[in-house]
Amino acid sequence: MDNSFSVNIRVLLCQNCHGPLKVSMEGGYFDCEYCGTTNEIIPKSNVEGETPTAGSAKVTADDSAADKERERRRLLKRQADTYFIHGKSSRYSMISVPKDLKPLVHVALSDYEKPAVLNRIRAEYDRLLPRLQSNAGDKTARDDLEHRCFWLSQALSNIYTFQKNYLLTRAVLEATLEAVQDPGFNYFIFADLALSALNVNNGEAAGDWLTKWFWGATGQSSSAAESTACA
Ligand SMILES: [Zn+2]
Repeated sequence: MDNSFSVNIRVLLCQNCHGPLKVSMEGGYFDCEYCGTTNEIIPKSNVEGETPTAGSAKVTADDSAADKERERRRLLKRQADTYFIHGKSSRYSMISVPKDLKPLVHVALSDYEKPAVLNRIRAEYDRLLPRLQSNAGDKTARDDLEHRCFWLSQALSNIYTFQKNYLLTRAVLEATLEAVQDPGFNYFIFADLALSALNVNNGEAAGDWLTKWFWGATGQSSSAAESTACA
């Protein structure tokens, strides 16, 4: 069985060549098998659940800002739940593509075999993802950045799936999942990971991703999930 979509492994993108990079949950330093670049990866526990600003040491510097951000994410999660779990209307019922990205995203669906299309989308994604990971800008800028990275990752993962490059599909989805904090986008990505696991005939992994989809980013068993549920 193709195990590339198991929830028990972690696959991100090389920061230099965009190749799939298998890393550990604990993070650390990992050499890319394609270009040899050493990538520094933060622990997965830092990018899931209640941690408001992943990988940033600035979090503790301003507790009240962190509290506000935590509250904002709690409300966003509730809004996402109304749509994804309870099927009621919310802002996620109409997540539209940012206007200026539309031509690029639409062309990815029709002209996915053209290398130039892939290169343009990948270049834009690779430019924006590090900005999202570094948590730069104010909230509005961040929301916009998440929205863009989400749609670019949708286009990219579609192309990689058409190419049957499933490991890269996973890497793009997971790299985006770890960078994007909006719970609504996270729901979409979990569902994508579940569907992708079915593409490699791994029903068990698909079930595991759907479990995460239902229970949220932290999964049901971790202590972080319990604190989320109680919050
Ligand atoms: Zn590389």
